[in-house]
Amino acid sequence: MKIVIVGASFSGVSCAVEARKNFPNDEIVLIDKQPDIGYIPSGLSLVLKGAIPSLEDAYFINQKELEQIGITLCLDTCVTEFQLANHLLITNHGEVTFDKLVLATGSSQVPKNLDMSDKEGLTFKDKETSAVTLNKIQQSKDVIVIGAGQAGLELSDALIQAGKVVEVIETMNYPLYKYFDKDFLQPFINELKEEPSLKIYFEETINTLSEQEVIASNLKKHKGQGVPVILATSVRPNLAIFKKQLQLTTEQTIYVDKYLRTSQPDVFAIGDLIQVPSSVLPMPTYVPLINTAVQTGITCAKNLKKAIKPLQPVCQTVGTHLFGSYLGSCGLLEAESFVYPGDVASYTYEMNVSFTSKDVIRKKILYDANSFVLLGVQLLSSQPVADKINQYALMINQKMVLSNIEWQEKIYHPEFTYLKPDLYINKKRVSDDYEI
Ligand SMILES: Cc1cc2nc3c(=O)[nH]c(=O)nc-3n(C[C@H](O)[C@H](O)[C@H](O)COP(=O)(O)OP(=O)(O)OC[C@H]3O[C@@H](n4cnc5c(N)ncnc54)[C@H](O)[C@@H]3O)c2cc1C
Repeated sequence: MKIVIVGASFSGVSCAVEARKNFPNDEIVLIDKQPDIGYIPSGLSLVLKGAIPSLEDAYFINQKELEQIGITLCLDTCVTEFQLANHLLITNHGEVTFDKLVLATGSSQVPKNLDMSDKEGLTFKDKETSAVTLNKIQQSKDVIVIGAGQAGLELSDALIQAGKVVEVIETMNYPLYKYFDKDFLQPFINELKEEPSLKIYFEETINTLSEQEVIASNLKKHKGQGVPVILATSVRPNLAIFKKQLQLTTEQTIYVDKYLRTSQPDVFAIGDLIQVPSSVLPMPTYVPLINTAVQTGITCAKNLKKAIKPLQPVCQTVGTHLFGSYLGSCGLLEAESFVYPGDVASYTYEMNVSFTSKDVIRKKILYDANSFVLLGVQLLSSQPVADKINQYALMINQKMVLSNIEWQEKIYHPEFTYLKPDLYINKKRVSDDYEI
């Protein structure tokens, strides 16, 4: 059997490797339009802040490693036409046939509603665009970043560490709105305001963009020629090429069933192309994250010959380090609790990171008000706590109840944990002092 995967990034590579493990005798072909594979999308930020020496170091895997396990790589190869019913792909290097096809072509950083050409706004998700953007940044003291989400703020932080003055334009009224509630984030937002090289304009939507001019809804800004304007807006899949052949969702993603099968027989879709089931919400959601891409890639590979493993729900787990603060989030936000079918309750509290540390960790916990099942957690600290969010994601995915979590076995050490007995008697158990 010939398995062809188009898109050799996180989802495509994970799918190819898992397919090789499951089907050792089948032909596996991985196609990508890029000349190399495995670029990490935050590579530009890592270079700017000196975490890695160059963009050449921002790769999680290389061609040789995949070829060694018997995966055929077709790089610099762009699929220009998908004849899905005919089991045929047309590429710039000729035709490719398949028995099973996995679409893993991901998403783009360029918003569709913006009046601009690709050349006017700089992007940085792949190596090629990152190199162009890095070159522009090096020639300018000022930089404009569009979007105060995770990618936009990570880039802004890195730019400031590289000595730049950064202006950020954001549609929402606070940063990181996809992963954090505004009330929880207030101490972090206050710190951003104190950052001398950073100015964020909230509630501003970009209408026109060029190197001479950036025009937003309320704010009219004129910058001299050559100020780099970098796009860090929400990513979306480019579906034009599949539109007539595949069923799409109303959210403009490719429809897949729980085994990642599209509406065309023998064609699967994974990664940033699809919505995934949520462990807290009743409807599927769009979760353009690496961990989701990898999960969908692995699950898809298991189902290529026979539908055996449904995709597990995800709870949108993120962690980041921005302007000296570590942030983590998973599961439901209070802002989206109106779509949750039950009543949602929450509490926010701060506690010392450990017995010996004066640093605090701020936590917001969301739970079902009737069943006390954990639904969401947000973390903020000056200490590296973002990794703890994995533990909470597991609890949410396991649908754990708060009282059970409290009694789980946990390590105690005064230098890295904090423990204080609950001093309240006859008080409702879930309260501000209730730690999980
Ligand atoms: C700046 C930035 C930083 C990010 N940082 C993080 C992070 O720290 N953590 C996290 O979890 N997520 C992060 N993300 C999100 C993450 O990048 C995506 O969720 C992930 O890359 C999706 O993987 P994918 O395999 O679905 O698609 P993509 O990574 O988008 O890859 C798609 C691949 O398909 C290829 N392709 C597309 N069309 C064709 C065609 N017609 N022919 C041949 N090849 C084609 C492309 O060249 C590309 O290699 C970040 C995103 C951005 C933009």
